Amino acid sequence: MLPEEIKLKLAPLARPAWRPRTGPAVPGARSKFGGLPLLRPGETWPCCGHCHEPMQLFVQLDSQDLPDDARSPFGDGVLQVFYCTNMEEECEVLGQAHLPFSEVTLTRVIARPEANGFEALAMPIPDAFEEQSLTGWIPLNDFPDQKEMAAINDDLPEGTLALLHAHRPAPRPGDKLLGWPHWVDKAHYPSCHCCRKPMQFVMQLDSTDSLPFCFGDYGCAYVFQCEQHPNIMTLTWESRL
Ligand SMILES: [Zn+2]
Ligand SMILES: [Zn+2]
Repeated sequence: MLPEEIKLKLAPLARPAWRPRTGPAVPGARSKFGGLPLLRPGETWPCCGHCHEPMQLFVQLDSQDLPDDARSPFGDGVLQVFYCTNMEEECEVLGQAHLPFSEVTLTRVIARPEANGFEALAMPIPDAFEEQSLTGWIPLNDFPDQKEMAAINDDLPEGTLALLHAHRPAPRPGDKLLGWPHWVDKAHYPSCHCCRKPMQFVMQLDSTDSLPFCFGDYGCAYVFQCEQHPNIMTLTWESRL
C-alpha cells in the first residue's frame, strides 16, 4: 500500500472505482452476474457467431443501480456482457475472445427506452453459472501503473510522474466499475471501428471473482465504450500466464 503522503501527491492521477458486492439471486433484480438477460422487445437470446449457440450472460448492470458518484459511465440503460463458454466448440480460442469485437462475445447497452422488455426465457446453457444479484458497491481509490504513461496527459504537477515511477502503485485487480484497468500484460485500449479513437474503460471482470470463470490462463477482462459512439462497445482480456 502507498503511504498517505504519497497518495496525496499522486491524487491528480487517482480515479474512483467501485467493487461490486453480490449475493444470492433476487427475483426481478436487474443488475446481476449470470442468469437470464433482459431482451429488447421481440429479440431472442444473443448467440455466438462461431457455434451459433446462446452465449452466457456474464454481467448485466442497470445504470439506475450504479453508485451516484459514478454518473452513468455508459449512459442511461442496461449494460450487458455476453460470452460464449462453449468449450466443446472451443469458441474462446477459435473465436479469439480476447480480441476486441470478437464474434464469440457481445458487449452492449440497451438504451432506457428499449429497456422495458422482458427477461429471456431460460435456455439450456452447459455449465451455466448460478445467478448472483448485485447487492451494492464498495468504493475504491484507484491509481494507474506505469503502463498508463500514454493515457496520462502530462499537464500534471511537477514530480508526479517521478513519484509514479518511484512508488509503482497498481490498479486494483478483481471486478470493478471504472478506475484504471489492471493490465496484466500491456496497456491496450482498443480503437473504435468508426472514429478510430481509443475507447474508454468502463469496467473490469477478473477471473474467478464474481464469476466462476477463468479468461484463458487466469486472465483479466476489460469492457470499453467509445465516447463519441456509445453504441460501440467491446470486451478484451489479457492472460496472466
Ligand atoms: Zn460459441
Ligand atoms: Zn467512435
